[in-house]
Amino acid sequence: MLDFVVIFTKGGVVLWHSNASSSSFASCINSLIRGVILEDRNTEAKYFEEDNLAVQFKLDNELDLVYAAIFQKVIKLTYLDGFLSDMQVAFKDKFGGIPAAERLAGDYDFDREYRRVLSAAEEASAKQVKAPKAMRSYNESQKSKKTVASMIQDDKKPSEKRVNIQESAQPPSKQQSSPPPASMDDIIRENRRKLREKLTPTKKTSPGDPKPSKSSASEKAGKKPRVWDLGGNSKDAVMLDRSKDAPEDVQYQNINSELVGTMQGVIRDLDVESEDEVENDGEGSTSEEEEQQQQMQSKKSKRGGLLSYFKGIVGAKTMSLADLQPALEKMRDHLISKNVATEIAAKLCDSVATSLDGKQMGTFDSIASQVKEALTQSLVRILSPKRRIDIIRDALESKRNGRPYTIIFCGVNGVGKSTNLAKICFWLIENDFNVLIAACDTFRAGAVEQLRTHTRHLNALHPAAKHDGRTMVQLYEKGYGKDAAGIAMEAIKFAHDTRVDVVLVDTAGRMQDNEPLMRSLSKLIKVNNPDLVLFVGEALVGNEAVDQLVKFNQSLADYSSNENPHIIDGIVLTKFDTIDDKVGAAISMTYITGQPIVFVGTGQTYADLKAINVNAVVNSLMK
Ligand code: GDP
Repeated sequence: MLDFVVIFTKGGVVLWHSNASSSSFASCINSLIRGVILEDRNTEAKYFEEDNLAVQFKLDNELDLVYAAIFQKVIKLTYLDGFLSDMQVAFKDKFGGIPAAERLAGDYDFDREYRRVLSAAEEASAKQVKAPKAMRSYNESQKSKKTVASMIQDDKKPSEKRVNIQESAQPPSKQQSSPPPASMDDIIRENRRKLREKLTPTKKTSPGDPKPSKSSASEKAGKKPRVWDLGGNSKDAVMLDRSKDAPEDVQYQNINSELVGTMQGVIRDLDVESEDEVENDGEGSTSEEEEQQQQMQSKKSKRGGLLSYFKGIVGAKTMSLADLQPALEKMRDHLISKNVATEIAAKLCDSVATSLDGKQMGTFDSIASQVKEALTQSLVRILSPKRRIDIIRDALESKRNGRPYTIIFCGVNGVGKSTNLAKICFWLIENDFNVLIAACDTFRAGAVEQLRTHTRHLNALHPAAKHDGRTMVQLYEKGYGKDAAGIAMEAIKFAHDTRVDVVLVDTAGRMQDNEPLMRSLSKLIKVNNPDLVLFVGEALVGNEAVDQLVKFNQSLADYSSNENPHIIDGIVLTKFDTIDDKVGAAISMTYITGQPIVFVGTGQTYADLKAINVNAVVNSLMK
């Protein structure tokens, strides 16, 4: 039996619902809207579960509406596909003429039509359920008339037989033929499983081989500073990470405070260069003719790129999946070429297809703009944080409560954990917080010295004299080989006792598949209960970064004995300055876990730390 039926806009505004009391279903519908419809996640499944409730829904792309039926998930209702389609037709017949602008203000008296459609669907379904037949005697049965020869003949016609079996096994509805996925958790789990499957065969190393990771290579050779071609003014910039290669004084003197800039309050947005900007940059004044030419070119380029894939669809009034298929495949390849993980590019295309399927189209221009809009909206939604992480506000709150605000950094080796920890430290100092860095990478030779150098540099930039005698950065270190969780705990206690505002915990780099190390990270987080756990990942890698993030999350959940384990809260996406317009890792990482990108590392100076500019990243992906 149906518990609740509701019609709402894709933006989540309810236009009509079946019961007077909707409160018991509100949470389920809200989760559907937030987790599936607004996110464009798995809308193609048209099924959703939460607790003991299940929702089957139908999208109406023409009116931008969603028709949803809620029922107890233990019940199988075979008529829902037909019922929801009939609801759509009845609703469209009655209210389809209301202009889009007035749709939200409309008064929708739909109870009578609903009852009519429901009872028709229930009756039709009841007729399909046949009454049990009285059992025949053996003599009455066909079997008694069968000879051995007839049986042999039957077996000689397998194709006929198969047809009958298929017909009788034909499900009465679409829902039965494709068992729906389960709740959001299950969807995420399923995504992870598929992703893992997808990623595993692409790895070139055999399972027995040690992974040729940066870690092992660099550990043997000793870490060398990298020189990044695109690292901005890296020639002049302070090399952030090395202590022993150069004499301390030399490094200290190299600091040019103008280069590191200032980062008061909020972090500046990340700029991603667009072609148009590049064209305009440095050109100075242009003649009228040149300007006109540029305008023509920019008009052309706007129609070109990704959207040119859709030129073949001109003329179709209503978009169908078959029309879209070739274009969507090209779009998926385009996203993959921008470093979006393969699985996620496919998911994105599915969601664009779902949102365009059945939509009325006018001229080519409107097709192009609708496609662009669908994809852009999808990408913007993915990148926009679901919950805001406001470190400054939360650190101030902790300070008021007399306890240090604690951030733990984790990730694989060489991704830029220590460097970006130092940048974040610099940003915090600029916002007048004093910081204790806890050196909990007790594993890699040189890790503690690297942090010591950062501490010295940062104190040189912000001497105590400039901060009422307060030392702005201190290092808490206990050397190598000790228990990292214990050192972090001591550091937090020390910060508490000496009234330090923020503790930044550096941890040893570890590969996502290394179970003992993942267990110890989980323990470190569990016993120290930090305010924030940040995953540091490189923008350079596409699928690999997703694999790392997913497995870090999963390990933190699996190896914590807490009922509500503290998994990763946000992402620091490093080396953004080295990827040109291949910004896909940002999409992949946020899509798969929903965790926001809190900081973006854009170079090797302390000032090279930005916040993500969602629109710039999306524009760059669409280019
Ligand atoms: P860890 O092993 O994860 O702690 O990595 P490190 O902090 O030692 O950084 C590894 C290398 O990456 C160093 O050479 C850093 O200078 C470099 N690095 C870190 N972040 C960035 C960034 O945002 N851009 C560039 N170009 N290089 C970076």
